[in-house]
Amino acid sequence: MTIALYPGSFDPITNGHLDIATRAAKLFDKLVIGIYDIPDKRLLFTTAERVEMARKAVAGLPNLEVEPFSELAVSFAKKVKAQAIVRGLRMSADFEREFDMAMMNKKLYPELELVCLMSSIEYQFLSSSLLKEAASLGGNIDDLVPFHFSSSCSRLSLLSGSGIQQSTGQTSTHLDDSWEPTHSVHLLGSIT
Ligand code: ADP
Repeated sequence: MTIALYPGSFDPITNGHLDIATRAAKLFDKLVIGIYDIPDKRLLFTTAERVEMARKAVAGLPNLEVEPFSELAVSFAKKVKAQAIVRGLRMSADFEREFDMAMMNKKLYPELELVCLMSSIEYQFLSSSLLKEAASLGGNIDDLVPFHFSSSCSRLSLLSGSGIQQSTGQTSTHLDDSWEPTHSVHLLGSIT
């Protein structure tokens, strides 16, 4: 059985991520979307929220699973018995970082292969951070996120200027005192 791990922050999952995941799922018997618990970046959603959004996005797709992880990606790959890591490449933006990570991962786990899929043209410009910025300023992001939170994502605008801070390195503790949890609960609550 061929298994691949697609690791990332997915804060939140976008149609660009989904495009890579669904295409990769055709190449392997099983694709595990690994939601990294403590990325070194500013997070908007808790790990549980990111997992829930991703699970809803891939619901009904038979060979896709979503799991959180907090160890090295290669260690998690071993745990889920993945033979490959999948990553998406956007034009120019991703190559150098992916190349460096691939070299490090190869050093740590030589048997693990990296499979990079080129982003589809319509998602070349799409990143979770740009999506959040556009949403926080009231932009229409309906075409960029999974159907189940399209219009409700405009509620991200509620977050503008508040509550987003550097991850502290602990699960689900990225929100500062000014954050009102009801905002994200509200957003998730409106996912159908
Ligand atoms: P990370 O924090 O590991 O970069 P992300 O959630 O931002 O995690 O992205 C996970 C993976 O998905 C990365 O390989 C990234 O390059 C890829 N990716 C993100 N957005 C897109 C997109 N629009 N098209 C293709 N790949 C993408």
